[in-house]
Amino acid sequence: MKIICIGRNYAKHIEELENERPETPVVFLKPDSAILPKKMPFFIPPFANSIHYEVEILVKINKVGKHIDAKFAHKYYDEIGLGIDFTDREMQAKLKAKGLPWEKAKSFDGAAVVGEFYPKEKFNLNAIKFQLLKNNEVVQDGNSNAMLWKIDELIAYVSQYFTLKKGDILFTGTPAGVGETKINDVLIGTLEGNTSFSVKIK
Ligand code: ZN
Repeated sequence: MKIICIGRNYAKHIEELENERPETPVVFLKPDSAILPKKMPFFIPPFANSIHYEVEILVKINKVGKHIDAKFAHKYYDEIGLGIDFTDREMQAKLKAKGLPWEKAKSFDGAAVVGEFYPKEKFNLNAIKFQLLKNNEVVQDGNSNAMLWKIDELIAYVSQYFTLKKGDILFTGTPAGVGETKINDVLIGTLEGNTSFSVKIK
């Protein structure tokens, strides 16, 4: 399986990192080795100086598709989840400055937290509320209604480039409030008030 990630999909997050608003979605991949095994802590990698959390709504693909039309995109997923796109922000800044790919900053082992998935019928997909709590304090408070590109538009866009397969996961971008995490933090993600994941930082 593969993980397809979207960058810069919320206006306020674009502002906080002083990025340009993209004309088309920013896309990058994480390999399956980036998934943090369930119930395992996240160990800050020895090469990293500034690990940032980015909480994101996840979409699990349920069948093969390519060149999917946005109006049929809903047929390609049944479940919605929540996760973290861990990012070595210092390394990403260096790579961005040189115009180099981001994988070393975003696709390392453990860089993808994948929480519980729930049937999509549980949600109003255009207004999914989600939060990230760091040590029980809300640090990110998002709503899918602020996405620049909606889930179905993202599926249509990325499937022009990559064949989607059953089990692939789409990370749909992070809202504002990203920040650094340090050893002994506990990060909890909630989707409409339900805890989707809890990760200890080591
Ligand atoms: Zn992200």
